[in-house]
Amino acid sequence: MSRAYTFADAVYEVVPYINGKAIALDLHLNRLCRSCEAIKLNADISIAEKEIQELAHQVLMNTNGYIYYQLSRGTDAIRNHLYANDLAPESFGYVTLTRKSNNHQKAKIVPDIRWGRCDIKSTALLANVMLMNQASLEGFNEIIMHRDGYITEAGSSNIFIVKDNKIFTPPKNSHILAGITRELLLKNFSQSFNILEEPCHLNLLTEADVVFLTSSTKGILVINEIQNNDYSLNQNHGPFIELREAFNNFLETAF
Ligand code: PMP
Repeated sequence: MSRAYTFADAVYEVVPYINGKAIALDLHLNRLCRSCEAIKLNADISIAEKEIQELAHQVLMNTNGYIYYQLSRGTDAIRNHLYANDLAPESFGYVTLTRKSNNHQKAKIVPDIRWGRCDIKSTALLANVMLMNQASLEGFNEIIMHRDGYITEAGSSNIFIVKDNKIFTPPKNSHILAGITRELLLKNFSQSFNILEEPCHLNLLTEADVVFLTSSTKGILVINEIQNNDYSLNQNHGPFIELREAFNNFLETAF
């Protein structure tokens, strides 16, 4: 029995490709390495890199898409929380072509019921699955999670809140996944666009000009509507539009 199946004893990465080129592959491999170390999974990351590139080369020659790649601890003879130290890690991956969605993004605000190590990119995402599907039943297609009133992240992406000429994002800690897209944005644009890592209270949402999400598959994605907010988010906010253009340009040219 694979421990991926019985315990979600596995970690994963999603690596985006633009025009056939991997975006920030080194950062994704570093994070995969950190996830493996965090759960004490002994894996050879150079094999992971080779497998990811091989998958991409078969399908993503000049196109946009992404690789899903997962490493699990391996297969044991009988279900046991304690794992044997000689298990051989299993890898699994697939390729998907990017499909741009222009869906109206309507977010529900929900308490973050996940575990205390959301910084590990674990495949154990049942809380996200429960919260997002409940939100979907209620007519939403996204969630914004919070702990005690402070925003953590969205269902499968990091969050940024634009207010006047500043852009806020919750700081890195064990309650959020340190997204690679978030990191690229902060590293390259925080000075020119005044992006600040600060605790973000839910109140900030009611005053925001723009709320947007970041992930390897979504890039920068604007939220159009938030539960119980009857004000309208201003998608034509000048600095935000400039940032999105600059970032998309960066993704196409920097790798
Ligand atoms: N937070 C969560 C919970 C996620 O699942 C993801 C995407 N896997 C992200 C943030 C964004 O990370 P990245 O920019 O590396 O895709």
